[in-house]
Amino acid sequence: MQKYSFWSLLRRSLSAHRGWKPAFTDASLKPHYEVVIIGGGGHGLATAYYLAKRYGARSVAVLERAWIGSGNSGRNTQVTRSNYFYPESCAFYDHSLKLYESLGRELNFNVMLSQRGVLGLAHSEHELEMVRRWANAIVMNGIDAVMLTREEIRRRVPIINLDTHYPIVGGFIQERGGISRHDAVVWSYARGASALGVDIVQNCEVHDFLRSGDRITGVETSQGRVRAEHVVLSVAGHSSVLAARAGLALPITTMALQAMVTEPVKPVLDTVVVSPTIHAYVSQSDRGEIVMGAGADGYTSYAQRGGIPQLRATIAAVVELFPCFSRLRLMRQWAGAVDITPDTSPIMGLTPLTGLYINCGFGTGGYKAIPAGGETMAYTIANGKPHPLIKPFSLERFARGALIDEGAAAGVAH
Ligand SMILES: Cc1cc2nc3c(=O)[nH]c(=O)nc-3n(C[C@H](O)[C@H](O)[C@H](O)COP(=O)(O)OP(=O)(O)OC[C@H]3O[C@@H](n4cnc5c(N)ncnc54)[C@H](O)[C@@H]3O)c2cc1C
Repeated sequence: MQKYSFWSLLRRSLSAHRGWKPAFTDASLKPHYEVVIIGGGGHGLATAYYLAKRYGARSVAVLERAWIGSGNSGRNTQVTRSNYFYPESCAFYDHSLKLYESLGRELNFNVMLSQRGVLGLAHSEHELEMVRRWANAIVMNGIDAVMLTREEIRRRVPIINLDTHYPIVGGFIQERGGISRHDAVVWSYARGASALGVDIVQNCEVHDFLRSGDRITGVETSQGRVRAEHVVLSVAGHSSVLAARAGLALPITTMALQAMVTEPVKPVLDTVVVSPTIHAYVSQSDRGEIVMGAGADGYTSYAQRGGIPQLRATIAAVVELFPCFSRLRLMRQWAGAVDITPDTSPIMGLTPLTGLYINCGFGTGGYKAIPAGGETMAYTIANGKPHPLIKPFSLERFARGALIDEGAAAGVAH
């Protein structure tokens, strides 16, 4: 792998940037692999990387129907935090945040992690009580969370309008939360995996599974048949459709979640602001764009574009919170097909079919989980049993009723 450093950048810039090698190899499909991972998003690529890095797997392929990062991993708003409510979620997401904190060094790629703080707002005394309960739960799980008064919020975010139609009465902040660069995360895992011998095959759509009784033995793709000992389903919003081909019914609803950015402006907002009541969340990217998101469209959809009503509601909410943004022009709007479970927690680990593993159900919040998702899935495949951190997120929890209902703590999306 070509090493990126200050000196290599300087040297290349003096020679008109000639001589850079491609970050990863666009591989051709082979007829057999030990592990086939379906889906070249962050989770699929991270799983491949950790399988090769930690467990020495040398016969791994990531099959992506379009280009890597073309799904939700390249479409999200990049919020990275671990301020969840339940101990199971706190443990998993905080492990992920810790991996993010050293990811740039591990992968020799600047993932632009900016721990600028994620501020959650409360718009009534009742909501403030709930927020206090939430912040206490986070602290009891060993994660940072600090309550802020209205005055402290004013000082922290001077451009915010505290007198929205439900006035802001306080909130809490996770200082270690923030944003990172989603394309960099996808590309750094792809580069790391490729350097360790993983085949990344783009434009390769998986249509069906090969099976022998209750064992999955490979996949049927647009480029031909591939046999494999282990097959991993890591396709986010398309999970239920593809799992149905293997005869598995997943408790997943797929909806379009949209986001949008304004034209770039000078730095005005150095905190991620989340308002579940006014119903929007906002940050400013390193390029200066104001990045905005809110709820998912209220109907099932596999389209990677959102509807006008949600777009209008998001902009109205953002402008109410930040009246000064009303003068900015909207530059881009897009959406991704998100995979939402009944308890808004992911589904990870083994399936009833031998040789088939699953990683999905992250819905609107799986970007922050990419490092831990990849690491724990690699462990699960290598050891044939679920990693302790993902044991509570098994598919069979829905049969047992052991739900981890993170609905209230899952941001503003639903
Ligand atoms: C607008 C928006 C904002 C979001 N904001 C945040 C946020 O701020 N913070 C956060 O933590 N999360 C956020 N998320 C959620 C997050 O983006 C996802 O949970 C995460 O990226 C899922 O990663 P993944 O690798 O599982 O899926 P994806 O990145 O979607 O990758 C799945 C891949 O599978 C491929 N695929 C599908 N079917 C097939 C097939 N049959 N054969 C081969 N390949 C196939 C797709 O092309 C895709 O590339 C947001 C999502 C959206 C849409």
